[in-house]
Amino acid sequence: MSRRWRIRVYGVVQGVGFRPFVYVLAQRFGVSGYVRNDPEGVEVEAEGEGGTLEAFLRALREEAPPLSRVEGVDVEELPPLGTKGFVIRRSEGEGDSKVLVPPDVATCPDCIREIFDPSDRRYRYPFTNCTRCGPRYTIILGLPYDRPNTTMRKFRMCPECRREYEDPSDRRFHAQPIACPECGPELVLADGHGRSLDRDPISEAARVLLQGRIVAIKGLGGFHLACDATDEEAVRRLRERKGREGKPLAVMVRDLRAARELAEVLKEEEKLLSSPRAPIVLLKKKGGLAEGISPGLSTYGLMLPYTPLHHLLLREVGRPLVMTSGNVSGEPICYRNEEALEKLGGVADYFLLHDRDVHARCDDSVVRVVVGREVVLRRSRGYVPEPVGLPARSRVPILACGGFLKNSFCLVRGDRAFLGPHIGDMEGPDVVRAFEEGVDNMKRIFGINPEAFAHDLHPDYPTTRYASEQDGEKVPVQHHHAHIASVMAEGGLEGPVVGVALDGTGYGEDGTVWGGEFLLAEKGWYRRVGHIALARMPGGEMAVKEPWRMALAHLYRVFGEDFLDWELPFLSYVDDRNLFVRMLDRGLASPLTSSAGRLFDAVSAVLGVHPGPVSYEGQAAMELEAVAEDVEGGYRFEVIKDGDMWVVEPEPFWRVLLEDLREGTSVPSASGKFHRGLAEAVVEVCARVKEETGVRDVVLSGGVFQNVRLLKATFRLLEGKGFRVHTNSRVPPNDGGICLGQALVATYILGG
Ligand code: ZN
Ligand code: ZN
Ligand code: FE
Repeated sequence: MSRRWRIRVYGVVQGVGFRPFVYVLAQRFGVSGYVRNDPEGVEVEAEGEGGTLEAFLRALREEAPPLSRVEGVDVEELPPLGTKGFVIRRSEGEGDSKVLVPPDVATCPDCIREIFDPSDRRYRYPFTNCTRCGPRYTIILGLPYDRPNTTMRKFRMCPECRREYEDPSDRRFHAQPIACPECGPELVLADGHGRSLDRDPISEAARVLLQGRIVAIKGLGGFHLACDATDEEAVRRLRERKGREGKPLAVMVRDLRAARELAEVLKEEEKLLSSPRAPIVLLKKKGGLAEGISPGLSTYGLMLPYTPLHHLLLREVGRPLVMTSGNVSGEPICYRNEEALEKLGGVADYFLLHDRDVHARCDDSVVRVVVGREVVLRRSRGYVPEPVGLPARSRVPILACGGFLKNSFCLVRGDRAFLGPHIGDMEGPDVVRAFEEGVDNMKRIFGINPEAFAHDLHPDYPTTRYASEQDGEKVPVQHHHAHIASVMAEGGLEGPVVGVALDGTGYGEDGTVWGGEFLLAEKGWYRRVGHIALARMPGGEMAVKEPWRMALAHLYRVFGEDFLDWELPFLSYVDDRNLFVRMLDRGLASPLTSSAGRLFDAVSAVLGVHPGPVSYEGQAAMELEAVAEDVEGGYRFEVIKDGDMWVVEPEPFWRVLLEDLREGTSVPSASGKFHRGLAEAVVEVCARVKEETGVRDVVLSGGVFQNVRLLKATFRLLEGKGFRVHTNSRVPPNDGGICLGQALVATYILGG
């Protein structure tokens, strides 16, 4: 007896070769009917005898293509129609789409083989792709994901590509960005004025790179600025022209072997490097690159080629290339040809351009492996727009606007959070515009129209202002609560948890600057139960940029004016000591902060690691981590109860540290003991809170927990005491993750 089923498949099922996969399955099981994309996912009608439909359905779930993610399957019984054969139908219907747009995918091994095969028609063709690889999110204009809804719509397929595109047995069947040298995008090398040079673009680009020139290269989600990563002079010039002083530069190497020559690559790290997401992976430095790549740090950020253009270029150059975001410091990454020529004209000597438009800008993602687990530090290309599941369902669609630094945003529908790409620090009109464009693009491709807006408590953040200008409910969320909630969202935790947010700075509920917080959190609610003792930030924001200011404040707090006579190198930065004493005494332009990041700055300055001005946020703390060595015991911090608050008091630590310095303790040892001691203090507070509340789930988040030494120590000590420890993995522990936390808190507050 023949039966007919309508099968609806939800999840990441478009643009990943799902329909040809179903087609092949149907042949195998002798099932008739059709498959097509619809705005909800993929729809299949299947007709077959006896138990074949069950077997077909099982295979459909179990053998789904590697890049797909089946999140749900509905089956509906239909009357049999007696159809013959199986077909792939054209897409139908647009509008409120619930389908998941796939992220961009690194070039697959088959396509790599073709571009290096002189007998293949795609030999050396930089835009080769197939259903298993290529651009996705960055070229999609709308849904359903079909060629006319991508920036490839302006290219007319040649007969040969058309044949591949229509042949269900071909690897390029319905590969929307399909292209070849006959019919697809073209690469050109242009000089600084945009005049195209009539030479082989890749060979010529390789040649000028080897001469130390800087080339702007159009990639998947925007431009890179490239130069020879072993050429000290070229790296220095790139930094100078781009206005990027000390911040580490990402480097692309041709393969895993090349990566291993420069850095230690553990198994997990190898997997991430060569994954289809192809992120930048932070790896323990061995050396071999120019000094200027990551000065003062013990890591390199390496990635592998992820487009055919990268593969061709890297092989031709034969050396690692700096591949840093194509922007001038403080601006969003350029992604249009004219824009790049205009803005990067003063930076790049040459431009490697092409005519496949980038629709959505998307920076490279950055990840690191900590305690055997991936931690995403910047979530963008290869990850966006994959959703994160929430432990609660939202009643209304929400936009969470994020914060200020390293910002991203997030749209919520039901129990799905769709995080946008990395936007950057929300300074200047161009970044704010990039934020708005990013939001509009995600709203359109997912058909989500937010009715509520979550934002930071800080009244002056552009994201707060953006939220206040929208129509709908507003949900303010405290910065560190959002950090903690981001982990709760990832881990499906309802709470109660003890949240430890060690961070730079965030707007507190009480008018002080928070950043070393212990929060008891459950669902959308929290209560502050502890913090690091308050210290002044002389000069406010200036104290973030000049670590010696925090050293001054911390030491003055403990020793009064005494230390001003001691031999401490950072004191050379203080020109008017009396002025600072007055500022600290009276609290003039010196707000109080519990920030852990500022405590790290102070220690970094006192130890002489980085007392002077920093060129990027967190630099002094990162260099302090880089010099630290393993130690037996840590410096002791006091944990005291002040009213209903646990306070981590660094006074005893400072006394012993300065004593040690006088007696000639080495800086690496002192740094190691500081890390260890702070971890011990964190664990002690958690233990005290557990005594009071019985809560044994601890959440660790905030930018300071990007410090691997601190994170590892805290993690292990807590586990040793029987705590269950939760950390960020899929979203950053830094401010790039707070939009997710805001989204979860808002979901609860709005009655999720
Ligand atoms: Zn491919
Ligand atoms: Zn073609
Ligand atoms: Fe933060």
